[in-house]
Amino acid sequence: MKTNQEEIMWLSVDLDGTFLGGTLEDRQQLYQLISAHPDIGLIFVTGRGLESVIPLLSDPTIPQPSFIICDVGCTVVDGKSLQPVIEVQGGIDEIWPGEYAIQEAVENIPGLVRQDVPQERRCSYFAAPDVIEECIAELKKIGESLGCDVLYSANWYLDFLPSDVNKGSTLSALLKHLNIAKEDVMVAGDTLNDLAMFEHDFKGVCVGESEAALLQATEGKARVYHAQAPGAGGIIEAISYFGFLGEEGIDAEARDEVKPGTSDLVIVYHRLPFEEYIENGALKRRNHRSPNGIIPTLASFFKDGKKGAWVAWSIKDESLNKFETHVDVDKEEYPNLVAARVALTKNEVDIFYKRFSKEAFWPTLHTFWERATYNDDHWQVFCKVNRKFAEQTAAEASEGATVWLHDYNLWMVPAYLRELRPDLNIAFFHHTYFPSADVFNVLPWRKEIIGSLLQCDYIGFHIPRQSENFIDVAKGVMPFDVVERTGCAPRFLTYGCAVGLDEMTTEIRMADRTIRLGAHPVGLDLNRVQSALENPLIQERMTELRNELQNVKMMLSVERLDYTKGILAKLEAYEKLLEAHPELHGKVTLVTICVPAAKEMTVYDELQSEIEQAVGRINGRYAQVGWTPLQFFFRAVPFEQLVAYYAIADLMWISPLRDGLNLVAKEYIATQGMTDGAGVLVLSEFAGAAAEIKGAVLCNPHDPAEMSDTCYFALCMHRKDAKARINEAYEGVSYYDLAYWGDDFLKAVSKTADKNAKGQLSLAKIA
Ligand code: UDP
Repeated sequence: MKTNQEEIMWLSVDLDGTFLGGTLEDRQQLYQLISAHPDIGLIFVTGRGLESVIPLLSDPTIPQPSFIICDVGCTVVDGKSLQPVIEVQGGIDEIWPGEYAIQEAVENIPGLVRQDVPQERRCSYFAAPDVIEECIAELKKIGESLGCDVLYSANWYLDFLPSDVNKGSTLSALLKHLNIAKEDVMVAGDTLNDLAMFEHDFKGVCVGESEAALLQATEGKARVYHAQAPGAGGIIEAISYFGFLGEEGIDAEARDEVKPGTSDLVIVYHRLPFEEYIENGALKRRNHRSPNGIIPTLASFFKDGKKGAWVAWSIKDESLNKFETHVDVDKEEYPNLVAARVALTKNEVDIFYKRFSKEAFWPTLHTFWERATYNDDHWQVFCKVNRKFAEQTAAEASEGATVWLHDYNLWMVPAYLRELRPDLNIAFFHHTYFPSADVFNVLPWRKEIIGSLLQCDYIGFHIPRQSENFIDVAKGVMPFDVVERTGCAPRFLTYGCAVGLDEMTTEIRMADRTIRLGAHPVGLDLNRVQSALENPLIQERMTELRNELQNVKMMLSVERLDYTKGILAKLEAYEKLLEAHPELHGKVTLVTICVPAAKEMTVYDELQSEIEQAVGRINGRYAQVGWTPLQFFFRAVPFEQLVAYYAIADLMWISPLRDGLNLVAKEYIATQGMTDGAGVLVLSEFAGAAAEIKGAVLCNPHDPAEMSDTCYFALCMHRKDAKARINEAYEGVSYYDLAYWGDDFLKAVSKTADKNAKGQLSLAKIA
């Protein structure tokens, strides 16, 4: 808890119309001043109930108070723990008769309507003047008998409050308890219910455009300043007027301004567009060994000399003499694209990227929250790294530039970036699944994360369900209006799969800011598939595979070793299939390509040994001379080789328990489509791709019996049906390709930019 020894000033502010009021620039200046000034103690003094103050605490642009006095003085809590300051609130509790006593007492008075706002130690109603005229005497009597003051204001609001409790009495009691000298306090308000704060001899400011009655009542008070500027601007004026921050006032305290950079588009991705390595003491670069197609697509926005920056981490290696922040990406292809490297230590990368993200976020995002471990020290490293990303981005982006952030590794960047650069158009694309509120809310830092994401102008997910899950989580953090909802059909499935949805929220409004949301499933770079198919070595491999598999249908499964991928469930279903259909023995084989996890990732060891056991059991049970029912490859296969398998497979079986999208499904469709194939895609209805790809045969990976039946159906499918399905799926996969994804996303982002006036602060004025 802050004490008066540390603080040079205690700012006690009413919220609506005062601290949260005024122009955007003034609010921003005041908030930054307070954040940059740890020796300013901040107290919120509001008529709102605590429940309605809590959302403000998740807004990263608003400085956090040391104490909160709410319910017009009836509640007083510590700003961090939100627990009562019992030395002050205890006295109020003692005299409060309880809301039910009041409710019962006024039960028979007609015309009183209970206000549906959260409140404590007070009880409020709506009542028309004629109702009050009728019963005022009775209400007063009830108040007296229960030890309450009865207040009627604005011809509409009727309040029962504990006697003699108001904003001023509670503030005064709190400051006395904290042993703070009156000299060090400044109060700020704008309406008559703030008057009580001005009656305790503190310095005070009535901000510009204050209620006339407040101005009148404080007129001539020596320690009260009537400011010109409304809201936050009035507070700034008064800080200077009273000389709180020394002779030079707030000018001396202003934070160093971040100078805009020169890039109109800034991509912020955890990885650089190239891989770095050290050889013979020199930093070298090569293409990424596991290209995912997204990197070249993002880079392609900088073709034709378009200026921009790519912010990503780079390990600062002590063996190298100097760290260069800015390097070219590819002088020929992208002459004006600069890579802005965020210097991290190896330890920071390990914690932020390899450990914390995988241990805390990955399992929770995929609904396996019981597997997650939450370590607050790692969270601190995560935030520190995210702040570095934000600072680098702020330095690169030109005035009003678009910043495109990628994935959950960078969740906290919007919070820091919005504070540094309110003018930016911040967009975020979420590459993984996003779970429902019941699961997401398990994360200890959910409010910080959502508060940060809500600083974006545009947020994109693969499919509507994930976006709507986000909306549901956000609803639990702060209030907003849903402005627009959009039907998900015809692009997406509505009721036909577990992750389908008929309608999604596409625009919300918080105070003076619009946030838009959209579903943009990542598409494929079809040229990659095409060039693999044209490669003579791959064609040779296809012939080999065909020869090896004569009269045996190939069922194929390709995934990383991960509990989200449902590998065990698939093996169990395959065993059931062989058990139920002996006629398939010798006629089918399941080829599984499973990419092992990095050695350090010991969380996958147990899963690996369970899989190995299941593979041994199934082959042990069913194998015959010349026929292996299950061919399990624990290794990564280069993409081009995979295409050969995709081309030959009669059935592709993808059964994740949960998956953001699943590109393998699209790669199979593309390969079959390009080779005029008639393979069948059996796809988990829990993969994001299931909501998008039409023509797949969907299965429920949580039900091995159903999955086995579905595979049987797919194996027996009429060729005509299979071909029609592949054609339908291929049409979608080839239309909504990777280039479509990037363009569509950026188009949607610029639409939002048009809606949002530049530089607006977001949640400052929650109604
Ligand atoms: N992949 C690969 N070699 C393999 C297995 C997979 O190159 O042995 C590639 C595959 O082509 C796909 C990506 O890895 O592009 C996996 O993406 P997906 O969205 O299916 O799953 P994720 O691993 O992202 O969960």
